[in-house]
Amino acid sequence: MKLMADSDTTPLADGASQNWISLALMVVVGGIALASLYMGFKEYGDNNLETAFMYILIGVSGFVAIGFSFFRGQPMAKSSQAKESSKEVDVVTTLECPQCNLKRVRAFKPGDYIFKKDEPCTRCEGNMIITRINARKEQKKKD
Ligand SMILES: [Zn+2]
Repeated sequence: MKLMADSDTTPLADGASQNWISLALMVVVGGIALASLYMGFKEYGDNNLETAFMYILIGVSGFVAIGFSFFRGQPMAKSSQAKESSKEVDVVTTLECPQCNLKRVRAFKPGDYIFKKDEPCTRCEGNMIITRINARKEQKKKD
């Protein structure tokens, strides 16, 4: 007698079915990991520390494997999301020259603080002073 799962296997055809298989694999591994953790805690309760440790190790490595394949499986979605959020909020530093009132806005640099004497003024001999550090949203331009 054959197992149901055996008769259902199909060769890897394209990316979509491969995704499906890795998802099913994740579910199976997750189930095994959960069962292992459960068994581990049960054995721990029975004072079988060595067996418990082995089960918990299997369970934890199962979850680690799932997490690893999950992050590897969607590098595109992950990176595009990070790109989007970094574009949304932009921290800018406003510099002002106290002598000629020249104003300049540049991207925030670590070490910037308000009233710090920054770069020399491009118009006169003075030094520009940081007057404002704020987050600027790319999409909203209203104040
Ligand atoms: Zn100036």
